Amino acid sequence: MSGTATNDPPVSEMGLVVVGAAGRMGQALIRAIHTIPGARVAGAIERAGSPHIGKDAGELAGIGTIGVVIGDDPLPAFARADGVLDFTSPAATVEFAGYAAQARIAHVIGTTGCSADDNAKIAAAARHATIVKSGNMSLGVNLLAVLVEQAARALDADDFDIEILEMHHRHKVDAPSGTALLLGEAAAAGRGIDLDGNSVRSRDGHTGVRRTGSIGFATLRGGSVVGDHSVVLAGTGERITLAHHAEDRAIFARGAVKAALWARGRKPGLYTMRDVLGLA
Ligand code: NAP
Repeated sequence: MSGTATNDPPVSEMGLVVVGAAGRMGQALIRAIHTIPGARVAGAIERAGSPHIGKDAGELAGIGTIGVVIGDDPLPAFARADGVLDFTSPAATVEFAGYAAQARIAHVIGTTGCSADDNAKIAAAARHATIVKSGNMSLGVNLLAVLVEQAARALDADDFDIEILEMHHRHKVDAPSGTALLLGEAAAAGRGIDLDGNSVRSRDGHTGVRRTGSIGFATLRGGSVVGDHSVVLAGTGERITLAHHAEDRAIFARGAVKAALWARGRKPGLYTMRDVLGLA
């Protein structure tokens, strides 16, 4: 008998449903699951009436036929799966959170632009389901958030102003990006303040001078940029810039699959990528 043999039953592959399977991230998720050991595509969902219903999810994602046809009915798909990967829209995500909680399966949420009300509904669903939600699923940005928190803590608000600049492709519909807000939350945590009460989300016209301790956001949109973020800590006579440049959506997709595998069998609750990556 080999030294590594055990009597434990083999752990089965985690069956994952991709909702929004025809979207930019949906296709990247199908490709990522296909290459990551321990995970398989168990279903692919798009909205009713989508021209992609009935197509093979792998064909659409450019990896050839995988035998998973895109459907429009999430409930039976969730009932057969172990987890859901969701990069869609806030309204859809709130609906999927209810279904995932009903099916008692893990729900990985990358959707950004959720309102306070949406987030409250997602938190309610997390009483019954294991949810991992993050404005950015990449290792790089989550590490950057830790560095931003440290820098904001070390540099006094009287001496250093914090500004967050982001650029994304022309199709993005929410602003500031979920990642910019995640970095803003990290800066606010470092300063021991609440982001909502201290952020300046846009500037136009006669704004008056900068309020000490505020955290400013600036948004650029254009072309095919996957995601650029810079956090500038501006002092008198010196400036520190902490930045991340996403070159490929695969980094978010791989992070989402990793989050699902991490969430499997974990007790219900609302977790972040920092928990998944051990950076919390
Ligand atoms: P996208 O290309 O527009 O994809 C979204 C997909 O979801 C579309 O195919 C859309 O279909 C579908 N969808 C919307 N409502 C649905 C519903 N009720 N049922 C089933 N499918 C539905 O957008 P994307 O660029 O992939 O981005 C999606 C989200 O992920 C955005 O919020 C984005 O900011 C976020 N994102 C997060 C990260 C991260 O790391 N957290 C990274 C990248 C992007 P229709 O076209 O028919 O509406």
